[in-house]
Amino acid sequence: MVDLKDMTTEEIEQFFTEFGEKKFRGRQVFRWIYGRETDSASDFSDMTDLSKELRERLADSGAYISSMKILKVQASKKDGTRKYLLGTGDGMAIETVFMKYKYGNSICVSSQAGCRMGCRFCASAEGGLKRGLTAGEIADQILTVRRDTGETINHVVIMGTGEPFDNYEQVDRFLKIISAKEGIGMSLRNITVSTCGLIEGIKRFTGEWPQVNLAISLHAPDDERRNEIMPVNRKCPVKEVVKAAGEHAEKTGRRVTFEYALMDGFNDSIHDAEKLAGLLRGMLCHVNLIPLNKVRGSAYSGTGREIAEAFRVRLEAWGVPATIRRELGSDIDAACGQLRASYSGTTTGVI
Ligand code: SAH
Repeated sequence: MVDLKDMTTEEIEQFFTEFGEKKFRGRQVFRWIYGRETDSASDFSDMTDLSKELRERLADSGAYISSMKILKVQASKKDGTRKYLLGTGDGMAIETVFMKYKYGNSICVSSQAGCRMGCRFCASAEGGLKRGLTAGEIADQILTVRRDTGETINHVVIMGTGEPFDNYEQVDRFLKIISAKEGIGMSLRNITVSTCGLIEGIKRFTGEWPQVNLAISLHAPDDERRNEIMPVNRKCPVKEVVKAAGEHAEKTGRRVTFEYALMDGFNDSIHDAEKLAGLLRGMLCHVNLIPLNKVRGSAYSGTGREIAEAFRVRLEAWGVPATIRRELGSDIDAACGQLRASYSGTTTGVI
């Protein structure tokens, strides 16, 4: 049983060669799966430019094209954000968010079902890791949302549930699949990968994907506090994460984004802003300040507007560009850190 949706163009060509067919048949099938705006094929019988004999032989071989099921859609009344609960073939539920911005439509995809990073303030950490998603499952989030909304998707952020560098191989293959010109043809410059700071992953990414945007979740300016909220910091301490980010900016010439969730009375003082600026100044970077979103059962709460603004101003005064992120979808728990691995059945929505 092999899932053709989970193949890069090279892999699908090889599959067809081994199947005794011409290489170009692979790209032809890839186009059927990924290259059509809203009606991607999910069945070999749809592929009308393949001979009937080949279509039958494919179906008999056990090859198939997987498809996520839409379990639930919640639409924000405030801003057009749509949160999808999608089901995988083996019964996992993952969340994907579609957002409309002035500059185009954006999708936030999950890279794992669950997450094992254990960040104390994040809903995705509850329940731990179920499993990494396949490249095909990550990419299918885009196909599914594109089909459901009928809209073009211009930007992709890997900022949903999961840690992308804890599933590096699949994320790597996902980037190949969605940037292939025979398929979605997404520009690498319009893709952002966000990591909690796995240093080996950052280094590998710098070498392999220099055109893709890198975002790093920092959230605290020193080890003491970062250890408290992000267990990963014991393995990947702040200064080393910042160093790897600096090398990324230098080698790629691209601006690194740092995400910093402002938590009331915890990491939001003027002194903290100066400490953070001290770490980052001089680097080609930008800080995205996100007043922490509420997560049930979490000990931390978000910083108010005024203090957030004072924090931003101090960072800029110290030469570090910063913006306060406008949160979309908070009324449907679709904002950063509010995505969950499983479906609790307590929320209401449109099916
Ligand atoms: N594991 C990756 C991808 C998740 S991205 C990473 O850590 O970067 C999700 C972003 O939302 C991360 O920056 C994460 O730290 C942030 N986040 C998590 N919980 C949050 C919350 N309650 N409020 C605001 N941002 C949160």
